[in-house]
Amino acid sequence: MKPFITSFDTLLIITAFIIMINGLSRRWALWKKKKDKTFSGSLRRVILYLVKHTEIRKRPFVGAAHMAVFWGFFLPLTIIVLAQFGFSIPNAPALFLSFLQDTIGIVMLAGILYLFFRRIQSGETDGPERTIIPMFILVIILLSGFLAEASRLSITGSNAAWASPIGWIVSFGIPSSPLFMQCMIRLHFFAVLLFIAVIPFTFMRHLASAPLNIFYKKQGPKAALRKITLETGEIGAKTAEDFSWKQLLETESCVSCGRCEENCPAAISGKPLSPRKVIRKILEQAQTAAGCQSRLFKPSAPSLLEDTVSSDEIWACTTCMACVEHCPVFVEAMDKIVDMRRYQVMGKGNLPAEARPMIRDLELYGDVQGKGPAHRADWAMHRDIPRIGDVEDAEVLFWVGCSGAFHPRNKDTAQAFTKILNAAGIRFGILAQEELCCGEISTGFCSIG
Ligand code: SF4
Ligand code: SF4
Repeated sequence: MKPFITSFDTLLIITAFIIMINGLSRRWALWKKKKDKTFSGSLRRVILYLVKHTEIRKRPFVGAAHMAVFWGFFLPLTIIVLAQFGFSIPNAPALFLSFLQDTIGIVMLAGILYLFFRRIQSGETDGPERTIIPMFILVIILLSGFLAEASRLSITGSNAAWASPIGWIVSFGIPSSPLFMQCMIRLHFFAVLLFIAVIPFTFMRHLASAPLNIFYKKQGPKAALRKITLETGEIGAKTAEDFSWKQLLETESCVSCGRCEENCPAAISGKPLSPRKVIRKILEQAQTAAGCQSRLFKPSAPSLLEDTVSSDEIWACTTCMACVEHCPVFVEAMDKIVDMRRYQVMGKGNLPAEARPMIRDLELYGDVQGKGPAHRADWAMHRDIPRIGDVEDAEVLFWVGCSGAFHPRNKDTAQAFTKILNAAGIRFGILAQEELCCGEISTGFCSIG
């Protein structure tokens, strides 16, 4: 019997995988040197994420479409891998699997088309090579698969048409031609190989990078900033190489879905900031520096981030964390923006003109209003508001902040809050003159229990 896969086909399969592995290993070069032990991985986290799709499902339609594409991809892949190991399935479950594959295939096609048109409509394509081409290949894979199945049914007939419902329906509209069937099988085969080969060069590389980013998901408080290490003499990010390996892995995992941008108050209010574009620009810089953009894989001197991310962009960020909260693959645009600011302020002494008086007041008076420690507790005068040191067994330190201490409206809020604490019988205290600006313009409290 003639083998289904010829030696030439085997060569093509090997070539496709070599291209894919070579491409992915180039991507790996982007951040591998920077890997440290700060992040530990969890396979369980990845599996739970993939099964539940919790973050992606926050948008029901996109979530459903992505789930359809994921399972439509994963199920046949599992069957193919099992088949390579000679794993044979009895007739009844095999027919059921065929039914499942057929139905998932049509749902997957609908999902891809939905995501495809949504991307085009929202302009989130970032160039056709990134999104449109791989999606187009996926559509060809599915359509050729259905047509090959349909032509097989139209030639051989089937007494189990229920197991291939889509193929059975399509079989009424196509010729009963063995040549046509062979053409569709070959088209399906070549499209699959092409898809495998283009994974590292398109946004489909998120198939590898996004699970990896979930594997190494940052633990602890969301958007916690990187500690500044003075040993290297470098503060913040001057070039893409100054970001940590995890930060670069995050830029690699971005799927350009635009959720960060849609929820960014700076972008919404018309400021020149798009967290999505910031991530993209950092990735492009990192790619160039690592040589991923060059055919000969030649690394080049990293260019300055400020050449591509403008100071208007980085200073438009309010550090509100909305981008962090809404990203489905745990990419944090905020910490990268803060690192770029750190370099501008502490590395170059560049500060926006409107921030200079505030920084001067911070240095001279320890608050952003320029009032000084002597007036820090004026808001609490003649009220039963104790200092933390005077409270026995204090449970809560009420951190008032510059805003609560000096802003006329927020002073009322701070006073009202102490009434609530008293009414609740909570033993609390304030730092009064000892409190200095924390860098956040807000009123808050922290537990010391
Ligand atoms: S950073 Fe996250 S939310 Fe923003 S475009 Fe990328 S994947 Fe989407
Ligand atoms: S943290 Fe900055 S970039 Fe992110 S949503 Fe808020 S303002 Fe936009």
